[in-house]
Amino acid sequence: MQQTERLKTFGVNNFKKIPQVSEFLSEEQIEAIEVVGNVLPFKINTYVINELIEWENVPNDPIYVLTFPQKEMLSTEHFNSVRDAIRNEMPRAEFKELVNEVRMDLNPHPAGQMEYNVPMIEDVKLTGIQHKYRETMLFFPNQGQTCHAYCTFCFRWPQFVGIDELRFAMKESELMIKYLKAHPEITDVLFTGGDPMIMKTKALEKYILPILEEVPTVKTIRFGSKALSYWPYRFTTDRDAGELIDLFKQIVDSGRHVAFMAHFNHPQELKTEALRDAVAAIRSTGAQIRTQSPIMRNINDSSEAWASMWQQQVQLGMIPYYMFLARDTGAQDYFAVPLVKAWNIFKGAYEKVSGVARTVRGPSMSAEPGKVQVLGVTEINGEEVLGLRFIQGRDPKWVHKPFFAKLDESAVWLDDLEPAFGADEFFFEQRYKELTSTKVEAVVEEEEIMA
Ligand SMILES: *Cc1c(COP(=O)(O)O)cnc(C)c1O
Ligand code: SF4
Repeated sequence: MQQTERLKTFGVNNFKKIPQVSEFLSEEQIEAIEVVGNVLPFKINTYVINELIEWENVPNDPIYVLTFPQKEMLSTEHFNSVRDAIRNEMPRAEFKELVNEVRMDLNPHPAGQMEYNVPMIEDVKLTGIQHKYRETMLFFPNQGQTCHAYCTFCFRWPQFVGIDELRFAMKESELMIKYLKAHPEITDVLFTGGDPMIMKTKALEKYILPILEEVPTVKTIRFGSKALSYWPYRFTTDRDAGELIDLFKQIVDSGRHVAFMAHFNHPQELKTEALRDAVAAIRSTGAQIRTQSPIMRNINDSSEAWASMWQQQVQLGMIPYYMFLARDTGAQDYFAVPLVKAWNIFKGAYEKVSGVARTVRGPSMSAEPGKVQVLGVTEINGEEVLGLRFIQGRDPKWVHKPFFAKLDESAVWLDDLEPAFGADEFFFEQRYKELTSTKVEAVVEEEEIMA
C-alpha cells in the first residue's frame, strides 16, 4: 500500500499561506484573488497546488485559471466596490450585504433550474432529485454538496456560497427509493453534487444498497465526479478507498452498469501517477469511465487541448462522452465561447483523433428544453445557417431531429438564436410551452400514483 495522502484545503481566508502564492504572484494578483474569492467560491487542495498547476506558467496556466479566482470574473464596477470595502475594512454585516448584492447580479439561478425540475412525492418536494429526461434521474445526496476543490466556472456556485439550500424534509434515501418505484421508466440513476465522491463510502452505501435490493428497473448507476482530477487518492489511499472500490464491484456483480462520469477540463489533469493509479482501480471493478467537460475561454479553447485530452483518455481506458457549452450564470462572460467558435474547436479536435475517440458528442448546451448539440455551419438555398439537434429533450420525440437557426457568430446560447428560413419559432417551441404550463397537473398525477 502506498503512503496515505492527507487532504489539506485552502480558501479565501488562508490561501496566502500557500508557499507558491507568495513565490509566484504579485501583491496585486493576491489582492484580486481575495476580492473575487469573497464573492465566488474558492477552495483548493495540496494535490492541485503541487501536482496539477504548473506555477512557472501562472497566471496563464489553465489549472490555475480553473481553480483560482480571476479578476475578470467580476465587472470592473463590482470588483472595485468589493476591493474598496476590503481596503477600508468595512464592518462585517455591511460587507456581507454588499457581497450578496454582487452575487444577485450574477444570475444565480439560470433558466428555470429551480421552478420546473423539482418532483414531488406525498406532498414533499424532492429538492434533491431532478427528473428532466424520461430514463434518467439525477440525485443530489445531501452530504455530496461540496467538492475537493472548486472550479471557477462552476454553475453550482450559489450552493457553495449558501444562496441555494438543498435540504430534505425527510429521510432522503427512502424518498428516492419511493420515487424510483413509482417511475419504472427510470433506468439510470445519476449521483451528482457537488461531488458524490466527497462522501464516505458508508454514506454512499446507504443510497446504493437499497437500489440494488429493491429497484430492479434501475440498470445503470452513474457517478458525476471531479474527484479523479482533484483528489485521485479517493480511489487508492484514502482510508475507505478499498470499500468504495468494493462497492463499485458489488453494483457490477448485481448485473448493473457502473458509469463513472469523470470531469476533466485540460490534458494537464491526466499527467500524474496518482490519476493513472486511480483510473486503474476504478476500471478493475468493471466500471466504465466516461469523460466530459465544458469548453472554456482561457482554459481549454483550442482543438489541440481537446484532441490531446481525448487521446490520452482513450489510452488510459476512458471513453470521451461530452463537450459542453458554459451556462449563463456567474462568471460566464469571462469563460463563454460562442457556439460557432466552439463548433470549430470541436471539429478541429475531432479531425485529429481516430474513431475510438469519436464517441464524444458536442458541443452541447444544457438548455431548458433539452441538451442541444451544435452540428455546424452550412448553407442551404443561399442562406447561411447553424444546424442543431437535441441529444436529450423534455419530449423524447425531439431527439436526433436536425433543425436550423440563422447563422449568428456571436450567439453563446440557445436563446440568442433565431429560426432560419423566416420561420416564427423552432419546431419544439409550441410543445415546450405546453409541457411547462401543464407542470402543476403532472405533479398531481404523480401524487395519485403514490396514494
Ligand atoms: C445530461 C443530463 C442527463 C443525462 O443525459 P445522457 O444523455 O443520458 O447522458 C440527465 N438529466 C439531466 C438534467 C442532464 O442534464
Ligand atoms: S467539480 Fe463540478 S460541481 Fe464541483 S466546483 Fe467543479 S464544476 Fe462545480
